[in-house]
Amino acid sequence: MKLNIVCIPGDGIGPEIVAQAKKVLDKVGEVFGHEMNYTDILMGGASIDAYGVPLTDEAIATAKAADAVLMGSIGGDTNTSPWYKLPPEKRPEAGLLGIRKALNLFANLRPAVLYPELKGACPLKEEISGKGFDLLIMRELTGGLYFGERKTVTENGMKKAIDTLTYTEEEIRRIAVKGFDIAMKRRKKVTSVDKANVLDSSRLWRAVVNEVAKDYPEVTLEHMLVDNCAMQLVRDPSQFDVVLTENMFGDILSDEASMVTGSIGMLSSASLNDTKFGLYEPSHGSAPDIAGKDLANPIATILSASMMLRYSFDLDKEADAVDAAVDRVLKEGFRTGDIYTEGCEKLGCNAMGDRIAERIVA
Ligand code: NAD
Repeated sequence: MKLNIVCIPGDGIGPEIVAQAKKVLDKVGEVFGHEMNYTDILMGGASIDAYGVPLTDEAIATAKAADAVLMGSIGGDTNTSPWYKLPPEKRPEAGLLGIRKALNLFANLRPAVLYPELKGACPLKEEISGKGFDLLIMRELTGGLYFGERKTVTENGMKKAIDTLTYTEEEIRRIAVKGFDIAMKRRKKVTSVDKANVLDSSRLWRAVVNEVAKDYPEVTLEHMLVDNCAMQLVRDPSQFDVVLTENMFGDILSDEASMVTGSIGMLSSASLNDTKFGLYEPSHGSAPDIAGKDLANPIATILSASMMLRYSFDLDKEADAVDAAVDRVLKEGFRTGDIYTEGCEKLGCNAMGDRIAERIVA
C-alpha cells in the first residue's frame, strides 16, 4: 500500500519527535511492504518565520491532497518568543485552528493509557493504578458551547453574558458513528457522557446516540452524567473503553484523563473528519525548554503515527506492531528523561526512536 503522509514538524521539539515517528513508519513500511511517501509543510512559528503567516493556503492544499497528516507540535515560549507579540490571528496556534477548520476535523480522540511500567507516575492510589487502564476520550470538536452565539448585554444597568450551546442531530450522529466505529476496533464499549438530567442538547445527544447504537449490536453502550464521569475517571478509570462526549465536557474530561496517566510524553491524539482523513499529533506542546537537546520523549508522536495507521489506513496489524514495540522498549527498561526512574537506562530522543524502530516485527 502507498501511504501519502503530510508531515508538520513544527516548532521546538517538533522536528526531533517527527523524525523518530518517520523512522518507525519507515521500518513498518520495510517489514510489512508499504511505501511511505512524505511531504513536509510548515505551520506555526516555522511558517511565520518563512512566510509571515502561521499557515499558508498552499500548505492547506498540500494537506488536503494527502491521506493523513502527522504533526509534531507548534509554538514557542509564550513569554519570550517574538511570535507572541503578533496579533492573535497571526500567532502559531492560529495555524492549528486554521488547519482543523480547513480539514473539517470534528472528532478529537485522546487515548489515556497507563503502562504497568510507568504506574509510579500515576497520581492515583496503587489499588486503582495497579489495575492499569486504556481508555479513549472521543470529543466533538466543532460544535456546542464554544461555537454557539455569544454576547454580553446590559439590562437595567447590570451586565449579562450569554453563551449558546447548540447541537444538531447531524452533528451528534457523525461523532457518534466515529465513536462506535472506533469502539469496534477496541474493546467494544461506549460510555456516552452528557448532562441529560438538565440540558435539552444532552437529551437530543442521548436519543441520537441510542439510534446510532442500533447499527452496532456488538458494542455495549452506557450513558453517564458528566459529573459522575469526572468522579469515575479517578475512582476506577479501568471501567472505560471509548468515552463519547460533546465539546466542552470532552475538553475537561480529556485533560483529566491525561493527568491520571501522569506521563505527558506518552499521550497521542488524533482529529478526524467524516472520511478516513485525520491529523495525528502528540497531546503535549512544543516543549521549547528542551528543544534541540535530544531530550524529548518521542513516544507520544510514535503512538500518534500508530493511530494514523489504524484509523486512516485501516492497517491494524501494523499499528499493533508499533504499540507492541513501544511496550517492549518500556518492558526492557529504556526511558527518556521525563519518564526515567532508577534502575532504568536513560536514552535520548533519537536513541529511543532507534530502539522502537528496531523492535517492529510482523
Ligand atoms: P508543553 O507540553 O510544551 O511542555 C510542558 C512541560 O512538559 C515542559 O516542561 C516540557 O519540557 C515537558 N514536555 C512536553 N512534551 C515533552 C516530551 N515529549 N518529552 C519530554 N518532556 C516534554 O507545554 P507548554 O510549555 O505549556 O507549551 C509550550 C508551547 O507549546 C506553547 O507555545 C504552547 O502554545 C504550545 N502548545 C502546542 C500544542 C500543539 O501544537 N498542539 C499543544 C500544547 C501547547
